[in-house]
Amino acid sequence: MEYYSLNNYLQDIFGKKVYKIAINAGFTCPNRDGRAGYGGCIFCSGDGSGDFAGDREQGIAAQIEEGCKRIEAKMGNGEPAYIAYFQAFTNTYASVEVLREKYMEAVRHPHVVGISIATRPDCLGDDIVKLIGEINLIKPVWIELGLQTIHDRTVKLINRGYETEVYEAAVKKLVPLGVHIVTHVILGLPGETYEDMLETVKYVGDISHSYAHSVSCKRAGVTQEDMLLTNVVEKINTEKDSTRNQFGIKLQLLHVISGTRLADMYDMGEFATLEMDEYVRLVADCLELLPKDMVIHRITGDGDKRTLIAPLWSGDKKKVLNALNKEIRNR
Ligand code: SF4
Repeated sequence: MEYYSLNNYLQDIFGKKVYKIAINAGFTCPNRDGRAGYGGCIFCSGDGSGDFAGDREQGIAAQIEEGCKRIEAKMGNGEPAYIAYFQAFTNTYASVEVLREKYMEAVRHPHVVGISIATRPDCLGDDIVKLIGEINLIKPVWIELGLQTIHDRTVKLINRGYETEVYEAAVKKLVPLGVHIVTHVILGLPGETYEDMLETVKYVGDISHSYAHSVSCKRAGVTQEDMLLTNVVEKINTEKDSTRNQFGIKLQLLHVISGTRLADMYDMGEFATLEMDEYVRLVADCLELLPKDMVIHRITGDGDKRTLIAPLWSGDKKKVLNALNKEIRNR
């Protein structure tokens, strides 16, 4: 089985190797300050899931400069190209003016080829969506949405703080902008069965397929029902590049991080984390369910080893990736 990896996507879009620089732009999160909830998602670290992001006390440009230096020291500085990744907390949770200033500071950097904005689907008001559309006309914008699961009982348990319909409404608003939409899914959440996880991944694939389809139809000037006619399908196929690869997914292994409420639950023996062989099989099964043009941004987690409590096998990233690649190749 083959899948469309992030590296392939970056190569296709930019024609060269592109690295992400994680930024902490100094935002907070409505799931922590009471607007959507208190305490945050139970798995979220005190850094707002931005463990590798820069220092929030520095400006955006300074964090980008530091990231450039770090990557160039490691990889050499042939043709530097970076995605500025607004990673920590909720990166659309501020006024349009503040957001514009912060995004533009990144966009103006000569080596930044695009920006990626991690956020919650309930923080995408119309004014913010409009701003994202404007920025996307200057440099490509990716919007990363933390969905994690579609199952209501898990949504409550993890204290996500919004209904799944909100995610779908956000996707609907973002699709016409032409931005790249990346959905985050966590595999191994407490109480979820193997089938539950596959259902979430299938839902994300189906949503992307159906919205990409409807945009293609609109551009070709036909109804979705007409798509059933073969001559119309041919017409659509000539249009399909316009929405091709508009969707991506991050499959993340649940990490139990110290200092989180999830860690307390783990200590109390309320759930077990996935074993490596189980996770490897699960990821391969997930990939089989996704549309072939969906960009696979990640197939494992990237936890901070200093705070990782479980599963400890995930700390050996090379071993995990080797096992994943072997399983995927053999499908
Ligand atoms: S929405 Fe993101 S930043 Fe906010 S608590 Fe959840 S994981 Fe953390």
